[in-house]
Amino acid sequence: MKSGFVNIFGKPNAGKSTLLNALMGEKMAIVSPKVQTTRHRIKAILTNDEYQIIFSDTPGIIEPKYKLHEKMMQAVKGSLEDADVALLMADARETGEESHTIFSSLKLKVPALVVLNKSDAVTEDKLERLKLFFQEQPYCKEVAIISALKKTGIDDLLKTIVSYLNEGEPFYDGDNLSDLPTKFFVSELIREKIFALYGDEIPYHATVLVHEFKEKSTLIKIGADIIVHRDTQKGIILGEGGQMIKKLGTDARKDIEAFLGSKVFLELFVKVRPKWRDNEMQLKEYGY
Ligand code: GDP
Ligand code: MG
Repeated sequence: MKSGFVNIFGKPNAGKSTLLNALMGEKMAIVSPKVQTTRHRIKAILTNDEYQIIFSDTPGIIEPKYKLHEKMMQAVKGSLEDADVALLMADARETGEESHTIFSSLKLKVPALVVLNKSDAVTEDKLERLKLFFQEQPYCKEVAIISALKKTGIDDLLKTIVSYLNEGEPFYDGDNLSDLPTKFFVSELIREKIFALYGDEIPYHATVLVHEFKEKSTLIKIGADIIVHRDTQKGIILGEGGQMIKKLGTDARKDIEAFLGSKVFLELFVKVRPKWRDNEMQLKEYGY
């Protein structure tokens, strides 16, 4: 039996969450074309007879502009420290230079595989050139070429990862897909819908806190707060006559029902908390 921790690094939009979903075959991490949707470390646990791999999806690497961002950077460093293998993911549509700068600045001690993602969107030539470029780099053990979206190259990537893991007993009970509580995934699914429904600014000013999660005989009752900075943002979330929040609730409920495999009664509330992003206590309360 082999077991170990694997972390997925890469610029925002490289496809980390999509890879995690492809690996797990379930909607574990939220996926969005907008940046910075993954604020937390997400552990997904893949167990079979031969191995157990514990994956973390790290937030995108960004400037610590707000306290919230500092927390994200801490999360990135935290993952660095306890990985057995790092997956350094690059978007194959790009030149590779910018990713290379970030990868080398991480100064990794753990073995790293460079994962060239979005192979479906570039030519074989481009892939070959990028492969040669990354193979030369001191931090890179091997290059894997995948399409997280089309789910190609995933099995080979898993084989390569396993070859770098140590012999050892599993860390977690095989039935647990993740060690994060269900409430967390529920709030992430609601947040994903906020990204899908509202304009540029709003998603970055909103966070979601699930305050009620009760399993009843025929359904699960969930109550969640959407927390924003200002009354004007609250107004936008609600929409005229409450139309927008109604749509948000319906869309989110459908995904939550699919994820939990149960009927769900979802109640959403909008709360105004000025400057929640800069307030340590509130960040703790909201799970950052
Ligand atoms: P993250 O920020 O690194 O977690 O990136 P996401 O997983 O959220 O993906 C960002 C965007 O890239 C989404 O629109 C994905 O659908 C898209 N994407 C991810 N993987 C692939 C891929 O293999 N091919 C293509 N064409 N698009 C992809
Ligand atoms: Mg992500």
